[in-house]
Amino acid sequence: MFLDALASRGLALVRQTDVSDFSFQGHRLRLMATQSGIWKPAILSAALSFNTVFAADPSRRPYDDEVGPDGYLRYKWRYKDPNDPTNYDLSDNRAMRNAMRFGLPLIWFQGVDRGLYLPIYPVYLADEEPARQQFVVAVDEGSLELRRDLASDPKLVRSYAMRTVKERLHQPLFRQRVLVAYDNRCSLCHLGHVELLDAAHVLADSEGGEPVVTNGIAMCKIHHAAYDADIFGIAPNYRVGVRRDVMDEVDGPTLRYALQGIHGQEIRLPRRRASRPDPDLLEQRWARFEEAG
Ligand SMILES: [Zn+2]
Repeated sequence: MFLDALASRGLALVRQTDVSDFSFQGHRLRLMATQSGIWKPAILSAALSFNTVFAADPSRRPYDDEVGPDGYLRYKWRYKDPNDPTNYDLSDNRAMRNAMRFGLPLIWFQGVDRGLYLPIYPVYLADEEPARQQFVVAVDEGSLELRRDLASDPKLVRSYAMRTVKERLHQPLFRQRVLVAYDNRCSLCHLGHVELLDAAHVLADSEGGEPVVTNGIAMCKIHHAAYDADIFGIAPNYRVGVRRDVMDEVDGPTLRYALQGIHGQEIRLPRRRASRPDPDLLEQRWARFEEAG
């Protein structure tokens, strides 16, 4: 579809203007709401997309939309006043309900920076929780079907849902948010080829590291692998230390420039203070590096 075409041109991320002029059966169609929230084009009877805007501040909060105890994400109803009993009938909420009833695919635009979104699609609305004024979102068809099948084992449904949320939403969102924070450049060598860049974790998932910008650093493939192999470490003051035995080696330009050359340098940091690596997390990782070296 249209978004695949954008993605194939290297535009995994979109701005509202990129998706304001999509042509469908002779109609010009906007794909995303101009303000935050739910979007239903006039020619459709159901919602087409919804969005979650980027919030720079609660940077330690891993995700903008919470995962319920069942492993599924939630998306809040549109409301003017949270205590107004007529929220249920607002046209945006009815449009979402129609998409849910007919099992229609939707696009979830996730904010990665101000005005910049990562489209996640197709997603489905699996359920509604009126008491909490929210919809239950399935991020793939498998988790939609598993939830609807009454014979499904709840434990299995939960672990499947959690895995798909991680793979389809949290991991891509972490990568994009980290790369954007570092202006799509390696924080060590400043290489700017996005296809050669990764979002490295300071603390790994298995060590309790969360997929948040403050636990990530943009690195090229070489530096990411070298960081994970403890060839160098990054101290809580953002200075790089290269392992002693590697500093003593004699070899060609990659060793000299890419590895020995970064010793003592300060990494290039995001301009936005709230996006910089958390010194406490760096400290824990640095202690491990010093043990290894
Ligand atoms: Zn690099």
